[in-house]
Amino acid sequence: MLTLKEILEQSAAMHHHLCPRQVLGARLGLLAGVELGLSLPQSDKRLLTIIETDGCLADGVAVATGCTVGHRTLRVEDYGKVAATCIDTQAGRALRLAPRRVARQAAGLYAPEARNKWEAQLLGYQRMPDDELFSVQAVQLTTPVAQIVSRPGRKAICDVCGEEIINERETLRGSTVLCHACAGNAYYTLTAAAWPTAAELFAPQELVTV
Ligand SMILES: [Zn+2]
Ligand SMILES: [Zn+2]
Repeated sequence: MLTLKEILEQSAAMHHHLCPRQVLGARLGLLAGVELGLSLPQSDKRLLTIIETDGCLADGVAVATGCTVGHRTLRVEDYGKVAATCIDTQAGRALRLAPRRVARQAAGLYAPEARNKWEAQLLGYQRMPDDELFSVQAVQLTTPVAQIVSRPGRKAICDVCGEEIINERETLRGSTVLCHACAGNAYYTLTAAAWPTAAELFAPQELVTV
């Protein structure tokens, strides 16, 4: 198990500096381990963490829990909130942890030497007791864990764009298999083609005569 100091050293190295939200992420991960009775940072995939914002918090959480996007154990539901739900996928328990509203002000009481609010939060968040820093609520996911995690090796091909879809993220419309984009939920729209299309590449070349 890593100490808070060790977590913050690793997190700051990844983040290029230390900041209060990394401290919150680190403390959140440590507390999740205690509350769920899991030994963290994990080297397996038992804990799944869903964070409610990207940014600094994510790096603290990742180091403290061992949950990463690369391991498919860290997901972002971007609500723009400093909070996370930690799910023990074996026991089926989920806890949502969020800093208490009063924590920002209370941090100063734990860091009397701080020269400004930022420093008070940076230091105070490291020293405050868990129950003053976070609220912890038992929650149930609206999407079952099995559906979020899916199964390895699941593959489909979108009937419209022909691209491969893994992890059962396809939509069925009748018997038509659609990716999110072709189902109308794309986060982008196409602009002018950046690359030649297949038709342009493979069109028969005209003979150039001199
Ligand atoms: Zn930061
Ligand atoms: Zn498609």
